[in-house]
Amino acid sequence: MSPEVRRAFAAGDAAKLWRQYGFRSPEELVLEDVAWALGVAVMEGPLDSADARLVRRADRGIIRVNREIRQHGRKRFAIAHELGHWRLHAAISQLLACTKEDMLARYKESEPEAEANWFAAELLMPEDLYRPAIAGNAPNPDVINGLANRFLVTRTAAAVRFVELCKEHCVFVMCEKGRIKWWRCSKDIEGPLWIDGGTAVSPRTLAGRFFEGKIPEAETQCVGMCEWASKFPDYAEDAMEAIIPLGNTGAVIAMIWLE
Ligand SMILES: [Zn+2]
Repeated sequence: MSPEVRRAFAAGDAAKLWRQYGFRSPEELVLEDVAWALGVAVMEGPLDSADARLVRRADRGIIRVNREIRQHGRKRFAIAHELGHWRLHAAISQLLACTKEDMLARYKESEPEAEANWFAAELLMPEDLYRPAIAGNAPNPDVINGLANRFLVTRTAAAVRFVELCKEHCVFVMCEKGRIKWWRCSKDIEGPLWIDGGTAVSPRTLAGRFFEGKIPEAETQCVGMCEWASKFPDYAEDAMEAIIPLGNTGAVIAMIWLE
């Protein structure tokens, strides 16, 4: 099966749960209840390096979520990710421990982890609800905060989903301690666009100025795409940039959209 087919299968399985239980809004999606109905108990507990772990024994399972995780949205994503493994990967392993990195994994990094993430994204932010919610909106901090609150997810998850589902060409860049950590972009520009991970954030970007302590939160500006990307489509020389500082973590999300 191609990645596209596997993605459609994983997302389709999550969408099936919404139909099966008749959910209409994210508040109605109580993950612990869904898990229980599927034969899985969810509990919090100590875990060394993982965000969550799934143990399977025949048709019963236990999801343990790391009790050190503070953010409600991150816990929800971890549970949804493990439910993805539960639904999709019975034949792969009876015990899976998933790290913070696994919750971000792409298909080429790990097929099962990417599938669990596709499942989790669709379960928490169903395409049918998310597309209308983002239509006509720029990915600025207000919009991303609103989406995170409405869908009960982290701002990171809300912003990545925005990039995945928006009609415009849009780029998400996670920056930490003045450096580019990881990025995602709209499907249409996946080939023509490249950003070098690990490099220093340019001081001519909003994110760069934020790290220098020069600007307040939540601004938007026009930026030269060459400040961010080593490769980008010709028409995208100038782009818009907004930043979303992630509290006291020292990390900043830069959202860049091509016009
Ligand atoms: Zn996993």
